[in-house]
Amino acid sequence: MSGRIESEAGPPGRHAAGLFAAAAMHRDSNGNALHAPVLVLNASYEPINVCAARRALVLVLKGVAMTEEENGHFLHAARIAMRVPSVIRLLEYRRIPHQSRALSRKNILLRDRNTCQYCATVLPSGELTLDHVIPRSRGGSSTWENLVACCHPCNRRKGNQFPLEAGMKLMREPRAFNLHTSRHIMRLMGRSDDKWRKYLFY
Ligand SMILES: [Zn+2]
Repeated sequence: MSGRIESEAGPPGRHAAGLFAAAAMHRDSNGNALHAPVLVLNASYEPINVCAARRALVLVLKGVAMTEEENGHFLHAARIAMRVPSVIRLLEYRRIPHQSRALSRKNILLRDRNTCQYCATVLPSGELTLDHVIPRSRGGSSTWENLVACCHPCNRRKGNQFPLEAGMKLMREPRAFNLHTSRHIMRLMGRSDDKWRKYLFY
């Protein structure tokens, strides 16, 4: 799906609190509304995820979801003009297992809110790396509990040491990304957005 985006009214970028990569990406992309974060609701209106507008539009076009709120932008593709959603809702109820998030670089960065877990610097995804808290060379595994977002300077400083040996301290204990964590993040992202607010704060 490629297309031209026009702003219907107002500046882009009022969708997120600016704390996260998705929000930063949205603001930096000069109104490329296809990257704007969209809140995904279950058929029951329960918030279950955040995805990019591009993916949300695909779900709407496929008839899997419907638009609940629009973000004020249009997507012009071929001969159609579509309003870009801000909130979509799945048409069929989907059971969400409690720990359904796949272990991936993207999800680790999302869990850690693009914040280096050693020095608390917030960076774009491309400037962060993943650190094995217990180094791989010393038996550390690639798990939710042993991987954290890390800036390159901290990663170099830590090297093959345990945090304590390097005189470094984790901001908090890394945990698996569950629905509770997701909802917390969705709330932070939606705090400044009236269209998200009514689905997230009740
Ligand atoms: Zn750092």
